[in-house]
Amino acid sequence: MKKIIIIGGGAGGLELATDLGDKLGKSNKAQITLIDKNSYHLWKPLLHEVATGVLDEQVDNIYYSSQGQDHCFGFTQGTFTDIDRDNKLVKIIDNNNETTSLAYDFLVIAIGSTSNDFGTPGVKEHCIFLDDQNAAISLRETLISKFTSFCSIIDESETKDEDKIRIAIVGGGATGVELASELPHMVETFGACGRNKMCSDLLDVSVIEATDRILPALPEKTAESITQTLQKRGIHVLTKTMITKAESDGFYPKEGDEIKADIMIWTAGVKAPDFLKEIAGLESSRSNQLVVKPTLQTTRDDSIFVIGDCAYAMQDNGHASPPTAQAAHQMAKVCYENIVNLFNNQPMKSFKYSDKGTIISLHDTAQGVVKLGSKSEMSVKGFLALMIHRLLYRTHQASLLGIFKTIRFASASKVMYKAKASSIFTNRD
Ligand SMILES: Cc1cc2nc3c(=O)[nH]c(=O)nc-3n(C[C@H](O)[C@H](O)[C@H](O)COP(=O)(O)OP(=O)(O)OC[C@H]3O[C@@H](n4cnc5c(N)ncnc54)[C@H](O)[C@@H]3O)c2cc1C
Repeated sequence: MKKIIIIGGGAGGLELATDLGDKLGKSNKAQITLIDKNSYHLWKPLLHEVATGVLDEQVDNIYYSSQGQDHCFGFTQGTFTDIDRDNKLVKIIDNNNETTSLAYDFLVIAIGSTSNDFGTPGVKEHCIFLDDQNAAISLRETLISKFTSFCSIIDESETKDEDKIRIAIVGGGATGVELASELPHMVETFGACGRNKMCSDLLDVSVIEATDRILPALPEKTAESITQTLQKRGIHVLTKTMITKAESDGFYPKEGDEIKADIMIWTAGVKAPDFLKEIAGLESSRSNQLVVKPTLQTTRDDSIFVIGDCAYAMQDNGHASPPTAQAAHQMAKVCYENIVNLFNNQPMKSFKYSDKGTIISLHDTAQGVVKLGSKSEMSVKGFLALMIHRLLYRTHQASLLGIFKTIRFASASKVMYKAKASSIFTNRD
């Protein structure tokens, strides 16, 4: 029986493992194995909600082993480190810190991306990155511990600007903006959980962007409107501010004074993990992504497919597809069809990225554009936009769990949020 290994159970990899398990695993045509360094999946676009306590990661996660049992694929927990292409082996470090090799006939690499500090001095040492669920949980703990110690010293009648909790977020893309918009709400919830001295006025949040506006993927008018929404919530939006250095107490811009900060977060861009660069002699891009043909096979090895953020898939417009969950989902579908077609000696399909639009969630509202075909688009704002944003996640969940389980998850999420908020924000002295 042919062996298919998928490395990375994220937005793209878990959908692919589920579909291939249902199609080829169930009928014993192939042995499908998913490898991930974590034991459970959490959709990455939700990380800012985990970091701010809006979402309960224990309700919204999916354990790989139980998903594998339901969908006929095996799961091995381990960290992928290398490939031996001559012998068709992948190397992983398992939970006991031992290196193991697993044999494959077809390999799919779907390990996503990590934050890119662009070599800026001090960023690695002093900033928090929102790269995975562990980082999101650790950011939440850092924020709560800061709020808790702040509570014990604050005298609200005398709070001056310099007494506030300063949070600086570098990067005005979707991640930075969505995270910033949740922070005032997080503090209000913290205050409502018995810390009544705490309110969003005690926060000083800045979103720092090097170019002349935030959210370059959105039309200028929409980005301007989102800037105003952030400003109304007391969030500073600093554009044309290129950060050249980070130190323990703040960021240094190319021009002007140091931007002081108690908590420093870096969301200024992504790259594929460094170890992927030319791994096993495969072709890679400047940001370490593995270059793929339109079939999503690597340019130098037809038995290796790459999908999601770590794939460099050039499109007809001369740009590579973007590192988004939307692209990872579309790649997973094409990769699935191509592997099934390979088994059936059918021709393979070409991956063509289709941009369906971008919606930014701003806690209790959202804003963005929905693409209507290749030429026109519609602006959406408010409740409708928020519903479309929520639907994106529920669609991902439905493709993994089916409609009925997704409805159960959605209801549990709503109920659990209140319990979660009071359990994570109380008893912290
Ligand atoms: C806060 C935030 C908000 C976002 N919002 C949106 C949005 O609204 N819309 C949108 O389209 N995109 C959004 N994105 C981007 C989106 O999350 C990613 O583009 C998408 O998750 C990429 O999917 P992927 O399958 O390539 O990788 P991921 O979903 O990142 O999955 C990678 C998987 O590989 C595993 N892994 C990594 N390294 C190894 C290793 N060495 N060995 C074994 N396993 C490994 C990880 O544990 C993970 O499970 C957002 C991202 C963030 C951080």
